[in-house]
Amino acid sequence: MRTGIYGGTFNPIHIGHLIIADDIRIQCGLDRIIFVPSGNPPHKKDQFIIDQSIRYDLIRQAISDNPHFMVDDHELNTKGYSYTIDTMSFFSIKYKDDDLFFIIGADCLYEIHVWKDAESMISRFNFLVAQRRNNPIDEESFKAIPLPNNLKNKLKQGIVNTPVIDVSATKIRDRIRQGKSIRYLVPESIRNYLEENNLFQNNGGVS
Ligand code: ATP
Repeated sequence: MRTGIYGGTFNPIHIGHLIIADDIRIQCGLDRIIFVPSGNPPHKKDQFIIDQSIRYDLIRQAISDNPHFMVDDHELNTKGYSYTIDTMSFFSIKYKDDDLFFIIGADCLYEIHVWKDAESMISRFNFLVAQRRNNPIDEESFKAIPLPNNLKNKLKQGIVNTPVIDVSATKIRDRIRQGKSIRYLVPESIRNYLEENNLFQNNGGVS
């Protein structure tokens, strides 16, 4: 089985995540995509992050009508920070007969070199890279990534020509805070939940 692992904070899940996961699954011939919400992301310490069990539940709701999508709470059960290399090692044991692919947006491409054990992670695992606005994947930017060429080439091979969906969780949170509508930027059930629970409306001004 060909399995995509889609890690992220999902604070909250939005249509960008869903469209990209669907597009990559179909283009790359994956059998399933497993969404893996992070428990305690090391690089997002200063943001308001909704409770992990709620982020998990919102993903569950958002993907419920797609038989190829699953959610896994592995990182939520992990004490301390979650690192992609550890998560991928875990899934490579759990699904030892699968071909695994870790899905990232192009924004991650330019910071992946600071992820834990980046070089060993990229050489051990496969990555699929989605297009993202403001993060063009061109030769110049690629050249500047401080990684050995063989690893950069490996990442390059994982680039997928996905549509550019200009939605981020930051944008969703900002719009809620500014009293703007998030209709159609997240699935309707997610919008209802966020509104009914006043999430992101007043969290001390952090994003
Ligand atoms: P934030 O704005 O809070 O940083 P985000 O919208 O980037 O959040 P994450 O949960 O951090 O969402 O992202 C998980 C993964 O999904 C990352 O690899 C990110 O690059 C990717 N991603 C998120 N939104 C998009 C999008 N619109 N298009 C392509 N990839 C995306």
